[in-house]
Amino acid sequence: MAITTDLSGKTAVITGSNSGIGLGIARELAKAGANVVLNSFTDRKEDHALAEEIADVCGVTARYIKADMSKGADCRALIEEAGACDILINNAGIQHVAPIPEFPAEKWDAIIAINLSSAFHTTAAALPMMRKAGWGRVINIASAHGLTASPYKSAYIAAKHGIVGLTKTTALETAEEPITANAICPGYVLTPLVEAQIPDQMKTHGMDRDTVVREVMLARQPSKEFATVEQMGGTAAFLCSDAAAQITGTTISVDGGWTAL
Ligand code: NAD
Repeated sequence: MAITTDLSGKTAVITGSNSGIGLGIARELAKAGANVVLNSFTDRKEDHALAEEIADVCGVTARYIKADMSKGADCRALIEEAGACDILINNAGIQHVAPIPEFPAEKWDAIIAINLSSAFHTTAAALPMMRKAGWGRVINIASAHGLTASPYKSAYIAAKHGIVGLTKTTALETAEEPITANAICPGYVLTPLVEAQIPDQMKTHGMDRDTVVREVMLARQPSKEFATVEQMGGTAAFLCSDAAAQITGTTISVDGGWTAL
């Protein structure tokens, strides 16, 4: 059988995809021919415009569906409204940083809901569709913090370790079917949010851009380079390809060597 990444005719649902990594993955999957469903909790003109732009550039069907990934019913409704879900990318995520005694309980609940429980709900709704279609890919966006820890990020790290476990269970429950489940574990990725932090960090540390990026932001990333959203998209497209049909229940680190330390 020829090895291909032609995703024509497949529908990909990407949670949290009106910016950053989710949007980068949506663009790369659309370039490979997939129809895409973008999502976030807002319902702005700009959100729908992103879908229109992807449809124009890639010649695929692209839609934006509002759904709040902190609510289980919304997660399931997103998949139902999409109507098809051959490729599920669980990407929506938020962060909060504080020591455990001061960590606000409502932030803990929100991070566990959005970064972990949402993937349970979307996967539960999507697997029957994948089974009916006879093909499926579940790709969970975990983190280097799904495999290692840092202080002050208790909820995020618990959720990211949790989603690695959910990925393995999803893989085992689908192991004898043409469905795979894997997690991508990014290190530090240059998204608009990360880019926006650079000037503040330069001021705080009294360093130029290159030094603050190397010494402060990428202190734990041995390559001393950010990963890119296009690389996340390319890795997701690879996991959807025939070459990856036997890759299931595992993590792929795209972290410049972070987890090798
Ligand atoms: P981002 O803030 O640009 O993207 C997060 C996305 O989630 C946005 O589209 C946002 O609208 C959406 N979102 C947030 N709350 C939501 C909700 N309640 N319902 C629906 N959508 C919601 O950040 P990003 O860096 O692109 O992060 C994407 C994923 O990648 C996250 O899971 C994050 O933990 C993970 N990640 C990011 C990095 C990095 O360095 N940027 C590293 C490792 C892992």
